[in-house]
Amino acid sequence: MSRNPHADDLIRFLNASPTPWHAVETAVERLTRAGARRLREADTWSLHPGETVFLTRGGSLLALRIPANFSVRAPRPFHILAAHTDSPGLRLKPRPPQASQEYRRWGVEVYGGALFNSWLDRDLGIAGRVCSPAAREGILVRLEERPVRIPQVAIHLDRTVNEQGLILNPQRHLVPVTGQTSGDASLEALLEHAAGAPFSDLTFDLCLYDTTPAGYGGLGDEFLYSGRLDNLAMSHAALSAFVESGPSGAIPDVIQAVVLFDHEEIGSVSAAGARSNFLPAALERAATALGLDRDAWLRLLPQSFLVSADMAHALHPNYPEKHEPDHFPLPNRGVVLKANANHRYMGDAPAASRLLGWARRAGVPVQNFVSRSDLACGSTVGPALGADLGMPGVDVGNAMLSMHSAREMCGADDPAQAIALFREFLKG
Ligand SMILES: [Zn+2]
Repeated sequence: MSRNPHADDLIRFLNASPTPWHAVETAVERLTRAGARRLREADTWSLHPGETVFLTRGGSLLALRIPANFSVRAPRPFHILAAHTDSPGLRLKPRPPQASQEYRRWGVEVYGGALFNSWLDRDLGIAGRVCSPAAREGILVRLEERPVRIPQVAIHLDRTVNEQGLILNPQRHLVPVTGQTSGDASLEALLEHAAGAPFSDLTFDLCLYDTTPAGYGGLGDEFLYSGRLDNLAMSHAALSAFVESGPSGAIPDVIQAVVLFDHEEIGSVSAAGARSNFLPAALERAATALGLDRDAWLRLLPQSFLVSADMAHALHPNYPEKHEPDHFPLPNRGVVLKANANHRYMGDAPAASRLLGWARRAGVPVQNFVSRSDLACGSTVGPALGADLGMPGVDVGNAMLSMHSAREMCGADDPAQAIALFREFLKG
């Protein structure tokens, strides 16, 4: 398998984005370079045909491109690509614990459904946003040079671990060691230096992340290895398709949109998550700014379409019994279309049929995924958005292994396939 520019670019995107806020910043840089104009939620909006705009709310971002031939008489529906910027992991508590036995440590909370063991014995950076009286919105920080670590207890002190499994209590066993009290560096001092204010004035949202860079893997470069593939891989694919569908191409028949949400991994209920008013309010405001009345806006919604893109479980060759024997996706075999009769994934037969049409036009193979009937099914932002907007859509993703590990893997050929499919979808 040959390395390809879209996989190379995904690697750059992953390495630039250790946290949801960094991912939004990376996306903003790319959109700005592509000529998009920033809108602010607090401002009155004016929008014009042919324009590309974006707005952010915390770790979430929405970008819209209005077709040049848009008019009130002939409004165009929305074609929306949705993904999420957050990943399961460990987040720092507001204050450090007392130093114990001369070790400096810092307690963490578990964010989302993290695989605890994957965080042990890795070189961990600290990144996120720090707020001070002079910067209430926060500044992005990334402390990578001096990694911290959560050491696993030696096998001599845990003799049955290989037979009975590793049981980790997140309060006691996932506390990173950040240094020794005899050392002169403390996290408090590093944060004070970064923010230019005393520690007592600082608030922060800080994540641990694996400092090992993303890269190719497998003897034939078949795979990509990285943290946060779920779901920065789909955030990157959606954003790339949007940027590549830029104004120089053919005029699309739809209002193109990409929305990247924070907080999917914890259920999407937050002021910036997919259950918030971020997307519905922005779409309605955009429609109003383009001159549509409320009736015209409501008429657009059922004509619009949502592609919710989140990574999918590839067949694990060491655990084939965990997978539905007739619906298991594989890496590098095309985009995965997810189905669930109980609508844990968005979609029905008519919506899936439209997706197959875009895939055929793009020349992208589609694989089906259904959970085993005796295993609980995951979910995504798709069903909630579909319910709030009354909009048809589907759930898709690329196949991956080690989902929710600190270091996951996926096929190196698949980012380009998803981007090709999403570009076709954005044409309308
Ligand atoms: Zn996900």
